[in-house]
Amino acid sequence: MKAELRKYLNTAKSKRKEYNKFFRKLKQRPPKDLDRRFHALHEEAFEEIDCLDCANCCKTTSPIFYDKDVERMAAHFKMKPADFFDQYLKIDEDGDQVLQSSPCPFLLEDNKCMAYSARPKACREYPHTNRKRMHQILDLTAKNTRVCPAVAKMVDQMIN
Ligand code: SF4
Ligand code: SF4
Repeated sequence: MKAELRKYLNTAKSKRKEYNKFFRKLKQRPPKDLDRRFHALHEEAFEEIDCLDCANCCKTTSPIFYDKDVERMAAHFKMKPADFFDQYLKIDEDGDQVLQSSPCPFLLEDNKCMAYSARPKACREYPHTNRKRMHQILDLTAKNTRVCPAVAKMVDQMIN
């Protein structure tokens, strides 16, 4: 990961208490324009940040694989869905289908995804900061300040 991206994660780590307090307040009383604020900061962050300089999500966390994702990925690799599951996936403590290991086995050395056109929905939508009803995923967003430099940057801008 480029140094300037690591800097955003380090800031999130050093300001953890401040961020926790901010998210607690947001959850108690989410502002009406929360979506608009996140969406504007999301656009700004991804104008600056190129995911190919990072790939930290693919390196450290697993997307959830819904059945449709398993079918599409298995077809991409010309495998049967059950064989794809056995080779790459497991059921986690929440009952979700997730990768057996990280970094993701489909991540290439240049940070590209070898299954990009067939990648799971969760990969397409990560880090979820341009979705509607952001107030419903504030715990996830707080967690993502420790994974995704773009989310760390958005939250830091929102606080300051
Ligand atoms: S979504 Fe976030 S964590 Fe994933 S590659 Fe892009 S900047 Fe990095
Ligand atoms: S499937 Fe592709 S986009 Fe999704 S975690 Fe793996 S490498 Fe990243």
